[in-house]
Amino acid sequence: MIRIDSQIPSGRIEVLDASDPADIRLAVPKDPNCDLMGWYHFRASGVRGVACRFSLVNAGESLKVRLPNREDYEDRWTNTGPVASYDRVHWFRLKAEYDGMAFSFRHTPEHDLCYYGLWAPFPLERDHAMIARAQVSPRVRLETVAHSVEGRAIDMLTVGEPGPGKRVCWVIARQHPSETQGGYFLEGLFDRLLDPDDATTTALLDAAVLHIVPNMNPDGTANGFSRSNALGVNLNREWVSPSPERSPEVFGVRSRMEEIGVDFCIDCHADAELTCNFIWPSENVPSWTPERRAPFTAFETAWAAANPDYELGHPYPGGVPKQADLSMAWNWIGERFPHALSVLLEQPFKDVSWRKTPETGWSPARARRLGESFPAALLAALRAM
Ligand SMILES: [Zn+2]
Repeated sequence: MIRIDSQIPSGRIEVLDASDPADIRLAVPKDPNCDLMGWYHFRASGVRGVACRFSLVNAGESLKVRLPNREDYEDRWTNTGPVASYDRVHWFRLKAEYDGMAFSFRHTPEHDLCYYGLWAPFPLERDHAMIARAQVSPRVRLETVAHSVEGRAIDMLTVGEPGPGKRVCWVIARQHPSETQGGYFLEGLFDRLLDPDDATTTALLDAAVLHIVPNMNPDGTANGFSRSNALGVNLNREWVSPSPERSPEVFGVRSRMEEIGVDFCIDCHADAELTCNFIWPSENVPSWTPERRAPFTAFETAWAAANPDYELGHPYPGGVPKQADLSMAWNWIGERFPHALSVLLEQPFKDVSWRKTPETGWSPARARRLGESFPAALLAALRAM
């Protein structure tokens, strides 16, 4: 007997009919009070040696809330597959088919239990483990800067000694909880920042202090939401006027930014349609001036040199918007702190086109390596400011 369960960390699926292994019908639930959807994560037991076919019958509904100007882009379900794991450590990629509404994949598991998901999950326990490991370093202080709608702590880790002349740098991640790549990116970044023998990060911390918010949306992570908080609010549209009731996560972090200041910020996201790592400065905000591009050019040039998984030259998907949406974190920060470099990062879910790895697609290991290569890029940006 096959059993499908989503009551697991960051789990999310609706079971319609699992009585026939050759036609297991599932639905991707929406986030609360809104049409945002896309994340799924579940386990199937009783499957050893059973030829299973899973269908997410409503997958195509997610394209109703597609980002603007993406008509010419390959959608998130085409030419990609889910990740699967037996041990929740190694996640391999399956092939899938998409017919415009249903997303289907076949798998004959080698073990009794198999996990499936949109991408490797990064459950809340893993955030807590990362934060706890970091805070015992002599380089790190921890402060709880907000509580989520459901009362979960939002921690900020400060790496380095604040002082006169030190640049104030921010790294925030997981506003959109399904974009778990940000968690693995931060694991790699902390590996570098906490290593006293690492000359690059020692030089970085001589020049700067880093304020890192590993998880902006712990309720979304805990509940397996795609892009919203517990009230169905997209936190990356709340930055102009966050409220303690509706978006306390942004309200708390934004308030701390106002107090501490910002010279640099990177907001870590992932985009299910991209086939590259994408970064962009907040160049459409009203306060932008051409001189603000030099630190960004230094930043992206150094990053591409440190890690070819960041490739120069990828255009803004669908074209650069004519007007910046200031309700998004990177734009609000770029406008509020006109001297600062504010950058958006989008990692792929599918893979990077320059070096495809079909057995895993874009993977946690490569996301971690991207985080490890970030200090070299940040140091170059600060030196160009
Ligand atoms: Zn995002």
